[in-house]
Amino acid sequence: MDAPTTTEARDLRRRLLAWYRASRRDLPWRRTRDAYRIWVSEVMLQQTRVAAVIPYYERFLERFPDVHALAAVGEDQVLAAWSGLGYYRRARSLHRGARVVVERHGGRLPRDAAALRSLPGVGSYTAGAIASIAFDLAEPAVDANVRRVLSRLFAVKARNAENDRTLDGLARGLVARGDARDLNQALMELGALVCAPETPRCDECPVRPHCRAHASGRPAEYPRPQRRSRPTEVAVAVAWIARGTSFVVERPTSGGPLRGTWDVPAVEFEPETRSARALETSVAARHGIEIQAAPAATRLVHAIMDRRLRISVHPCRLVRGRVARRPDVSWRDVSSLDDLATSGVTKKVARAMSRVVPEAQPAPGPSRGTRDPRTRRRDSPRDR
Ligand code: SF4
Repeated sequence: MDAPTTTEARDLRRRLLAWYRASRRDLPWRRTRDAYRIWVSEVMLQQTRVAAVIPYYERFLERFPDVHALAAVGEDQVLAAWSGLGYYRRARSLHRGARVVVERHGGRLPRDAAALRSLPGVGSYTAGAIASIAFDLAEPAVDANVRRVLSRLFAVKARNAENDRTLDGLARGLVARGDARDLNQALMELGALVCAPETPRCDECPVRPHCRAHASGRPAEYPRPQRRSRPTEVAVAVAWIARGTSFVVERPTSGGPLRGTWDVPAVEFEPETRSARALETSVAARHGIEIQAAPAATRLVHAIMDRRLRISVHPCRLVRGRVARRPDVSWRDVSSLDDLATSGVTKKVARAMSRVVPEAQPAPGPSRGTRDPRTRRRDSPRDR
C-alpha cells in the first residue's frame, strides 16, 4: 500500500472536515467537551446503536452528572441505571474507572492517551476518542467504522495484525496535522452514514476522488470479511417461579448462563438430560428449595456474543421450602423489569410468560417505579 502524498493527505483532510462540519448529526455527546460525558458515550456506544444509546445516555447523566457522582454509588445502582443496555461488563468497568479517576486523578480525566488507557475498560480506541474529542489531542481513534473507511481509501484488503497497524499509522498521520477532534469524528461519521459495510454510498461520498477501493470498481470487497466461527449452541433451562405478578430472580455469584446481574434461575444442560430435572436439581442445590418443574411452556432462542442459547422456560411450583430473603435471590414484579439490572433474556422470558400465564401480566395502575398502597397485594415482594 502506498501512503498518500502530502498533497493527497491535505485534500483528503480538507474534504473530510468540510463534509463533517456541514453534515454531522446533532448527537447529545457532540454538544459537550466534558471528558466524563464523552467517556460515558463512548462506553455506551460499544456494540450498541446510536438511537438505542441516546435515552440511556441522557438518563444516566441525569442520575450521575459527573465522575464524583458515579464513583460515590454502589455497583447495583450503576447496573440498575444501565439496565436494558446489556453488556454489563462495560458498566462495571466504567464504575471502577470513575473511582480510579477520583482516587488517583482528583476527579479529572487525564489529558493523556496513555494515562486514559490505564483506566479499567479503556482500550486504544476509547482513549483516542476521549483524548481527541474532549482535549483535541492528536490521537487516532480507530473503531470498526474508521477501519473500514481507511481500508477502502487505501485499498487494504486483508484483515490481519500487520494491516491493522498500517491503518492505525495512516489514521495517526491524518490527525497529526491538527483538528483531531473533528477529523476523528468525520471518519467515524463517514463510516456510519456513507461508507456502509455492504453498500457504500460512493455517489454521496466527499472523499471519492481519493478512494482506491472505489476506483477498483468493487468497494464493498474492502476489507475482506473475516470468517466468523459458528456460534456454540447451548441448551438452557429457565425456572419461572411466579406468584401473581412477581417472579423469582437470582444473582449468581460466578455469573450465570444468561449474563445479567439479576436473572431468572437458569441452568445449562446436556441435550440428553431432561431440562426440567436439571433445573430442579440446580435450584435445590443453590437455594435449598424443592421445586417441581412443569414441561416447557415456551421456548426461545437468544444470541449472546458467540453463543446461541436455546432456552426452554418451565413454570415451576414450590414444593418445599421458601425463597429466602438473601442478597442473591429476590422476588421482583414484572412491572419493574425496566428498573432491574438484568439480561435481555430475562426480559424476553418475563414478557413471554406474561403472555403464556395471564396472571403474570403487569397490573394496571401506578406508573413504573411507584406503588399505590391501595393496590398492594398480599403477595407483593415486601410481604415476604
Ligand atoms: Fe467508502 Fe465509497 Fe467513499 Fe470509498 S468512495 S470511502 S468506498 S463511500
